[in-house]
Amino acid sequence: MPGESPRAPGANRLPLARGLSPSELEALVAAEGGKAFHGRILAEWVHQKGVLDWERISNLSKVLRQRLARRMRLSTSTVLKTSVAEEGTKKYLLKLEDGESIEMVLIPEGRRNTLCMSSQVGCPIACIFCASGLYGVRRNLGSEELIEQFLLARQELGETPLTNIVVMGLGEPMLNLAELLPALERIVRNHGFSARRITVSTSGTSERIRRFARSGHPYGLALSLHAADAELRKQLVPTATEEPEVLVQASQDYFRLTGREPTFEIVLLRNRNDEPQHARALVRLLQKQRGKVNLIPWNPVEEIQDLFSPEPERVERFREILEEGGLKVTLRRRRGRDRNAACGQLRLNQLVEPA
Ligand code: SAH
Repeated sequence: MPGESPRAPGANRLPLARGLSPSELEALVAAEGGKAFHGRILAEWVHQKGVLDWERISNLSKVLRQRLARRMRLSTSTVLKTSVAEEGTKKYLLKLEDGESIEMVLIPEGRRNTLCMSSQVGCPIACIFCASGLYGVRRNLGSEELIEQFLLARQELGETPLTNIVVMGLGEPMLNLAELLPALERIVRNHGFSARRITVSTSGTSERIRRFARSGHPYGLALSLHAADAELRKQLVPTATEEPEVLVQASQDYFRLTGREPTFEIVLLRNRNDEPQHARALVRLLQKQRGKVNLIPWNPVEEIQDLFSPEPERVERFREILEEGGLKVTLRRRRGRDRNAACGQLRLNQLVEPA
């Protein structure tokens, strides 16, 4: 398992408005010739609405906004590109202050609107089937960069409520707990978002899963298991250092500490981990454990030529064996397969052909 990644760059720029208290904001407004109520208006936009650009602050004059913009920033990242896949899934390529880029995805699904957030720039885990890890990890995201994905998602949705957050974009969240935990804490406490509607997906480690369990919030946990057999899992997740049993054990501790049953994610690859014997091994590993299995037929990644999605019949057979073994199973519907569908692909395109 890879170690800590570099931290986000220190901000040697204007202060971030979100980092200033309401009275500090009011003082800056006064210094720029605004009235006291202008200060309160700004504080509300910044702290309650989470505004990301000056244009939106329609109840302050343009002149005042221009002056204030020389004193503080509203955001650290900018949207470089968006792409809409089938069924309305929308991907955002975000440019960070140091020129790095990440992705976030908005997934509408009936009444649900889910944000898929990135936790790092790239990923060090290097799962053989995943686009995010093809070029390794560049650095961790800072908590402001994490929060901004949430604020941007809300801003983009407008009147439509954001209902769920999954930390399943670029990166391994457990390798960035130092920034992720405070960011999630703020999303829950300051913005009133329910911790039960936030799910963090991880490949490990068990020690970090236990640390995550002590966050004090009932976040959902998804464990990227992919196979019950240690050798097979190591083929799929080459940086894995722990046996599947050890990770499953940590997920059970997570349940005991938070009351949340984990989800075991299995990305299914044709002829690699989709055979009946693999399903039976999962039954043996998981049948006495709390949690449910989420089967995810692999989303093809252009750069990965030697892997294939399983045939639907194979997926069905796999599901049947798990269910006959008494496991709870869900099957993730294919989403946005037409363009840049899998994790990290929008960023990958940009890395390959810079915009
Ligand atoms: N690093 C974390 C979180 C990011 S990946 C983790 O490993 O869990 C989120 C989920 O998407 C993981 O279960 C991962 O295995 C899965 N995933 C990655 N690439 C995929 C692809 N091309 N098709 C389907 N699932 C994929």
